Amino acid sequence: METIISEGLYRVEKIDDRFYCINEANSNNIYLLMGQDKTLLFDTGYGYRDYRKYIARINRKPLVVICSHGHYDHTLGNYLFDEVYLHREDEALWRKADNPELKKDAIAIREKKIPDMRQMMSVDAYLKTSGKDTKCRYIKEGDIFDFGRLHCEVIEMPGHTKGSIALYVKERQILLSGDSISNHFVWYAGKREDVASYMTYVNSLKKILNYDKPIKEIYSGHGTYPLEIGIVERMIECMYHCAENTNEEDLPVISSPDGTGRQFAYKDTSIVYSDELMEEFRRELNEND
Ligand SMILES: [Zn+2]
Ligand SMILES: [Zn+2]
Repeated sequence: METIISEGLYRVEKIDDRFYCINEANSNNIYLLMGQDKTLLFDTGYGYRDYRKYIARINRKPLVVICSHGHYDHTLGNYLFDEVYLHREDEALWRKADNPELKKDAIAIREKKIPDMRQMMSVDAYLKTSGKDTKCRYIKEGDIFDFGRLHCEVIEMPGHTKGSIALYVKERQILLSGDSISNHFVWYAGKREDVASYMTYVNSLKKILNYDKPIKEIYSGHGTYPLEIGIVERMIECMYHCAENTNEEDLPVISSPDGTGRQFAYKDTSIVYSDELMEEFRRELNEND
């Protein structure tokens, strides 16, 4: 992997001739994957700036934009595109976040890590952006996108959000996972109505483990890449260990514009969870015993 552009909030990394990652504000990974005829853009980030100029330097094919889920750090950049694909369950998450107040929070949250980030963008212009003219097209389990000798299959992974999906890239035998699989913490402390139960999440992870095609590598929406498939097993173990943990008061508390939760770490995985959802998970586990 080689960094080919590094300017302000954006770093473009070349994974190979047809596969790139645009990292935004040291936070989220936006992937660009080229087929013979079209190019996939997976997630659109915060969209602090118009990063399409970087895409134009490496790609001339028509873009197909697919979002892994509706969270603001993956969809606020949707305003840069005419049309995006997103799971029906998550459209409201994106539309709700697409307002100046949340965008102020979206700057404040990264400013903690990048103190001079306001100098690297136009805050006024960012607060005025809006995705209201961006058309949302829905995706569901089993949908296949053909980019020309490159096929991606949609795998529904409800959990982190109800409409989270992963994309399986057939010719490369890789999985683009969004936030559902990550070595960064998986945020799971949002409002109850926006997320699926922890049991549902564990079942989504098991579905990946039992997927009928080989998965050689996983590319996540945050953190380092590629990840090996073994991380999925450790994430499931993380959920079970977290449910068994009795020292909750000792855990670090983490806040975001989306809520506040406790962070539980297990090996190279961790989750930030809400007490309410974890309690519900414990009850369900006990019932199944
Ligand atoms: Zn997310
Ligand atoms: Zn995220």
